[in-house]
Amino acid sequence: MQKQRLVLIGNGMAGIRAIEEVLKHDAARYEITVIGDEPWGNYNRIQLSPVLAGEQKLKDIILNDLDWYASNGIRLIKGMAATQIDRAGQYVILASGEAISYDKLIIATGSRPFMLPIPGADLDGVIGFRDIKDTEKMVVAAALYRHAVVIGGGLLGLEAAHGLKLRGMEVTVVHLGEWLLNRQLDQSAGRLLEKAMQQHGLKLKLGISADALLGDNGRVTGVRLTTGEVVEADLVVMAAGIVPNAALGQAAGLNVEQGIVVDDCLQTSDEHIYALGECVSHRGMSYGLVAPLFEMAKVLGNQLGGCGKQRYTGTMTSTKLKVTGIDLFSAGEFFGGEGYDELVLSDPAAGIYKKLVLKDNLLVGACLFGDTSDGAWYYQLLRQGRNIADLRAGLLFGQQDLGDAGTSGASRAGGLPDDAEVCGCNGVTKGVIVKAIKEKGLFTVDDVKKHTRAGASCGSCTGLVEQILMSTVGSSFQAAPKRKAMCACTEHTHEEVRAAIRDQHLITLSDTMRALHWSTPDGCPSCRPALNYYLISTWPGEAKDDPQARLVNERMHANIQKDSTFGVIPRMWGGVTTPDELRKIADVADKYAVKMVKVTGGQRLDLLGVKKEDLPKIWQDLDMPCGMGYAKGLRTAKTCVGKQFCRFGTQDSTGMGIALEKALDRMWAPHKVKLAVSGCPRNCAEAGIKDVGIIAVDSGWEIYIGGNGGIKTEVAEFLIKLKTEDEVMEYTGAFLQLYREEANYLERTVHFMRRVGMDYIKAQVLEDATRRQALWARLQLALADEPDPWQARIGESAAAPFADLPQ
Ligand SMILES: Cc1cc2nc3c(=O)[nH]c(=O)nc-3n(C[C@H](O)[C@H](O)[C@H](O)COP(=O)(O)OP(=O)(O)OC[C@H]3O[C@@H](n4cnc5c(N)ncnc54)[C@H](O)[C@@H]3O)c2cc1C
Ligand code: SF4
Repeated sequence: MQKQRLVLIGNGMAGIRAIEEVLKHDAARYEITVIGDEPWGNYNRIQLSPVLAGEQKLKDIILNDLDWYASNGIRLIKGMAATQIDRAGQYVILASGEAISYDKLIIATGSRPFMLPIPGADLDGVIGFRDIKDTEKMVVAAALYRHAVVIGGGLLGLEAAHGLKLRGMEVTVVHLGEWLLNRQLDQSAGRLLEKAMQQHGLKLKLGISADALLGDNGRVTGVRLTTGEVVEADLVVMAAGIVPNAALGQAAGLNVEQGIVVDDCLQTSDEHIYALGECVSHRGMSYGLVAPLFEMAKVLGNQLGGCGKQRYTGTMTSTKLKVTGIDLFSAGEFFGGEGYDELVLSDPAAGIYKKLVLKDNLLVGACLFGDTSDGAWYYQLLRQGRNIADLRAGLLFGQQDLGDAGTSGASRAGGLPDDAEVCGCNGVTKGVIVKAIKEKGLFTVDDVKKHTRAGASCGSCTGLVEQILMSTVGSSFQAAPKRKAMCACTEHTHEEVRAAIRDQHLITLSDTMRALHWSTPDGCPSCRPALNYYLISTWPGEAKDDPQARLVNERMHANIQKDSTFGVIPRMWGGVTTPDELRKIADVADKYAVKMVKVTGGQRLDLLGVKKEDLPKIWQDLDMPCGMGYAKGLRTAKTCVGKQFCRFGTQDSTGMGIALEKALDRMWAPHKVKLAVSGCPRNCAEAGIKDVGIIAVDSGWEIYIGGNGGIKTEVAEFLIKLKTEDEVMEYTGAFLQLYREEANYLERTVHFMRRVGMDYIKAQVLEDATRRQALWARLQLALADEPDPWQARIGESAAAPFADLPQ
């Protein structure tokens, strides 16, 4: 039987995805011709921004090389525009004059940049940002010229501006809106973004538009603003919106509004012609992001592939910005207003803002800045339309609010259901990723990308993909021969990064990133805190702690609570306090109208509901050591009353706990560290579920390591039995220093132990006395000059990060 002729106009992301879907269902059904006016195969347009920023190479963003077309029997006519569609004769005419006949035609011509019709718009050096040619022009201009102006502070404009800045240009962004991304962020988030962009070196002109472009000898020299001000410019990038390429359809007499009108089956007003992508209007909407286009491609592919009709009913899109070091996310009706409930957490000093908008117990919008780790989860709740009444209390704090103990940093991925969408761009769910990992034996994020496309477009879900990989492959992930890079910014593993810091004596974040050829200029939220920890733990006293690389609680030295207030926990050595301390705590609680005083599981008191501006004053009034109840580091040494009071007690467990807590105070670690000391095997201090648990017996002390009591309770393993308190101190210190020196950041003791093996730990801590003593000595040295975080901050009085607190 003769094959039907399927012709695609537009060799771009949407069209080729539709062809891929067709091939998946029935590769033999059609004789396929693809007409594209760009001179290459299909590439990932999204990644032009990282290419401009120098973070990716052009060759890396090709999605379908020429071999792909050949091997699928597709005729690719590249570098050639389609100029006309003859609907009566069912053929397409090319710029060369050739006519290509079709039985079915797909139009996927995308869109083009909207060029402001102002005087000077036709000067040399004035371009849009749409394709490889535009990107190349910008790269060349950045090498030759100094001043760039980007018109438009939307996603595309900011990515262009950031890329040009990284290429050494002085960049000014002119934006008509009052704040950046004013359609994707609310004003509070927009202001934080403004600050972050200024810190990246961009100049901003907000609430202003360009009036005319000035030129000399045919090339642009400046931009005149509506205020009359002239901004110098050798390059002007117009990023003021896009216009669907619908002219071909319009000339052929198809129904066209803003774009070519299609129904839910992606059919145009001609039954032989379909359209998808940015060139269409569907239910009055034209999209400018890939997620909807890929959903359209699936529906069309199924239909043309012979799987029956499906309907495309529209897409709720979400926003992400591909500027390294700036994390933002928004989706749905995040502006809120009358008739909506708004949950807001705002911490301008830490650069964090979260706003969730609720209506009738449904999450209808989310706007996040600074901490977007829960974006995927919120997006999932939005799309599901799930009743969130049961989650409401902790919703703002994200999935981690469910607890993170002992889950190897994989709790978020572990908690996602199989139908949760992980990659919004390509519509890939967790279930699909897990299936591919298991069935195809995948071990790296790149493998997952290749097989599922998750993370292959904008890349912002890479961290989540990585977590799913870890939680799915589990221990064999560790045993796999393939290397696992620390994060998407580098090819190096945690171990290699630590070794380089040690061997090359690297003491700053920027030195490390430079020496190890980081692919991003400032790292990402995963690698920055890890690098900071590796630096300060390797070079104590020498490497400078970088607060900007700290997780937010560590920056504030307190735990942020759901209502944006803070929890303040002073240290109570071994859970023991005095009437004087209690009086001080009570006075402070009264003076600052603390909402609740709560006894914690770690045997101390938490002052809850403290206002941010009161933090330094409270610390000063308390005059007690910081309990570091927020830290990736030593939390508490929980004790029982022991032989001093208890009739079963065999040793002074309280004294031992206090001595340990004092010796290890201010210890930063890869993850939180909890200790407990019980006075007899009845174990009232629950030492069996602590990172280091110590249980007194008649003849001395038993040490257990690697326990914790979180979502997944881990029972500690017996390490050794010792006679004296000094020995307990030395062995505990040595084990913890080994953990500090060799564990990966965010790896709890139990996972460290599983990775390196108990035999290795015994060899280091038990069998080699010299090694043990050296470890213990190094830990003592590291802790010797470690300041109390609260005292250090009080000393700085009104200095950053509290300087810009709202009054
Ligand atoms: C720099 C940049 C960054 C982006 N970042 C993101 C992002 O982070 N996230 C996101 O979701 N989206 C992003 N986008 C948008 C995304 O790339 C588009 O939504 C997507 O590419 C649209 O797919 P399409 O197939 O409709 O159009 P296109 O990919 O533009 O493909 C259309 C193709 O048709 C060709 N064509 C047009 N007319 C003719 C003709 N007459 N004859 C032959 N060929 C023709 C065009 O040259 C083009 O090659 C970004 C876009 C750009 C430019
Ligand atoms: S663990 Fe033993 S010593 Fe400690 S309080 Fe309980 S019974 Fe007493």
